[in-house]
Amino acid sequence: MQFTKLRLLGFKSFVDPTELLIADGLTGVVGPNGCGKSNLLEALRWVMGENRPTAMRGSGMEDVIFAGASSRPARNYAEVTLTLDNTQRLAPAGFNDSDRIEIVRRITRDAGSAFKVNGGDSRARDVQMLFADASTGSHSPALVRQGQISELINAKPKARRRILEEAAGISGLYQRRHEAELKLRATASNLERVEDVLTQLE
Ligand code: ATP
Repeated sequence: MQFTKLRLLGFKSFVDPTELLIADGLTGVVGPNGCGKSNLLEALRWVMGENRPTAMRGSGMEDVIFAGASSRPARNYAEVTLTLDNTQRLAPAGFNDSDRIEIVRRITRDAGSAFKVNGGDSRARDVQMLFADASTGSHSPALVRQGQISELINAKPKARRRILEEAAGISGLYQRRHEAELKLRATASNLERVEDVLTQLE
């Protein structure tokens, strides 16, 4: 799947609607200090389901909402829209019936955040799985933030392995395995209860 467009509204320093077209190949973001380069990368992570405020350099998730400036009042919500080209039908099942996939995440003060995929309500987990299955996502090694290269060089083997697994496209499988294990455990305990009831009836 190809990322084709990123739209921001009220996200961090991007108070006005801002649209970026993403072309084929490697994309670099350049600009003077403080112009919002890292904010752009964070918007991309956020719309893909990032849920750790620290990854957004904040203490709470509402910190991503434009906080106001001397000439502009603060906004009440922030919204990021990511458009994907799915003409090659590479999206996972459940998302794969259209040429274009549009993911919208919106956070409103005191009301939390919500996702929409192609106009319909979606769960954070489903959006995270969509990207994990496509070997990308908020933790994707394809998004290189400042200081990340030196972190990688100094990383412990376990952390390096996670990066390799992400690149190999198997991180979605880990999440599914974890969920399957939880279901198995619940089923085993239900079976035990059924056996107890049967013993009592005999
Ligand atoms: P550098 O090259 O120095 O790393 P940068 O281009 O990556 O800078 P960012 O860190 O993305 O810049 O943006 C920093 C700017 O974003 C600061 O001016 C900061 O005040 C502004 N900013 C961050 N969060 C908010 C917010 N919630 N509301 C308004 N402005 C914000």
